[in-house]
Amino acid sequence: MSRASLVHEFRPSLRLRSGEQLAAFALTEPHAGSDAANVQTLAERTDDGSAYVLNGEKRYITNAAIAQVLTVMARTDRGVTAFLVTPDMPGFSVTEARMSKLGIRGTATGRLAFHNMRVPAENVLGSPGEGLKLALTVLDFGRTTFGACCTGAAKTCLRLAVAHATTREQFGRTLSDFELIKKKIAGMAADTYAMEAMTTVTASLIDRGLEDYMIETAMLKVYTTEALWTIVNDTFQIHGGAAYFTDLPLERMLRDARINQIGEGANEVLTSFIALAGMRGPGVQLRDLWHALHHPLADLGTVWRFGVERVSAAVRAPDVPVRDPRLSPYAQRVGKLIRRLNIEVSRVLIHHRESVLDRQYVQQCIAGAAVELFVCACVLSRVDAELAATGNPKGGDMRVVELCLRRSLRRVRRWLAKLHDNDDLLVTAAADAALGE
Ligand SMILES: Cc1cc2nc3c(=O)[nH]c(=O)nc-3n(C[C@H](O)[C@H](O)[C@H](O)COP(=O)(O)OP(=O)(O)OC[C@H]3O[C@@H](n4cnc5c(N)ncnc54)[C@H](O)[C@@H]3O)c2cc1C
Repeated sequence: MSRASLVHEFRPSLRLRSGEQLAAFALTEPHAGSDAANVQTLAERTDDGSAYVLNGEKRYITNAAIAQVLTVMARTDRGVTAFLVTPDMPGFSVTEARMSKLGIRGTATGRLAFHNMRVPAENVLGSPGEGLKLALTVLDFGRTTFGACCTGAAKTCLRLAVAHATTREQFGRTLSDFELIKKKIAGMAADTYAMEAMTTVTASLIDRGLEDYMIETAMLKVYTTEALWTIVNDTFQIHGGAAYFTDLPLERMLRDARINQIGEGANEVLTSFIALAGMRGPGVQLRDLWHALHHPLADLGTVWRFGVERVSAAVRAPDVPVRDPRLSPYAQRVGKLIRRLNIEVSRVLIHHRESVLDRQYVQQCIAGAAVELFVCACVLSRVDAELAATGNPKGGDMRVVELCLRRSLRRVRRWLAKLHDNDDLLVTAAADAALGE
């Protein structure tokens, strides 16, 4: 089943859409957190094939105790499978309705247990064994909403920071007069513009019904959640001691923002995913090349095709089209850095081959450069459209946009340089020392 048809098939019922009913998504277990494939909840088919019997437990489940319908992931003999479960099913129990937690206290996060819970076979979502594929589809949407929520919170922070910095006086000047405060405010404005651009572009990929946008949603999630954490921290700092007291919303914003880097794919896991999924295409090409080099006469075409593709990727910078001439220099720099990333990816794959799967320092550099290039592409796309429509960047200023682009371009160069100039071996050695190994 294609991803587009999966999306269509699982559109929520009207009562869920109207808010009359609440849903929950139960994947996480004590032994299945980031490693979602390690689901231990077991679903055994009854002899007559009419139902499944579920046994297991779930934790950290939002709406666990108040949802009228839950999507529960359980292991069948065909692999992880999604089941539609209702709390009235015998064997369903809420073991903790509302776990005490740091932030986002407006949601109830709980634990569940299933003891010989009979679920009719027609309650299987999709086909048996398709659960993780379905989970990834759900997480794709979730990560896009992270982008939107983080952008909204970032706008609030920027507004609060500007209001405070322009009114609070110390040393006979407003805080906004000091360069170290200006730097924070400018960074927040640039990041907020980028976050909105990335959210809009990523959401448009989903709206246009594209088959695959997993890398883009992962890049959006990592960038916006890390940026918001910095933005909240900077807003907090600008407010000084006042931020620490509960009459201002900042201590709550700080607590609420912390889950974003962990939930729906911890940022470390997504960083690896971005690098490895992004390098899959060139990796497959290289694997074919290894094969062809060992059978050169039988597979001369592969050797030739690979040679032509890699050589042209190394020589030509891709064209990044923009309409406004003010953006052309930036677009050209983006094209050149895409070319450099392309070369580095080939080098990494040739050097590390299969062991690249374990080289997370390298993955971080590749993913970091890719994310910043995505930022540039989204910002250029957004500002180019806004300049064409009104002559001005909407909700921003050309100086803010330029700062956004220049920072991201510099970060791409830094990530790529780090592939060659780093302390990776020493970092591992120091970690081993600290770990007592
Ligand atoms: C408030 C809240 C609400 C939640 N709601 C839901 C929900 O509705 N449904 C649901 O199913 N789950 C939910 N979760 C669970 C959430 O998705 C998990 O907490 C998350 O996937 C991480 O799993 P874990 O907590 O087991 O951490 P672990 O998997 O133990 O990871 C801990 C840390 O280790 C690091 N790490 C892990 N793997 C790697 C790796 N491969 N490489 C490098 N570093 C790594 C990361 O830094 C990670 O943060 C919720 C959690 C919270 C806190």
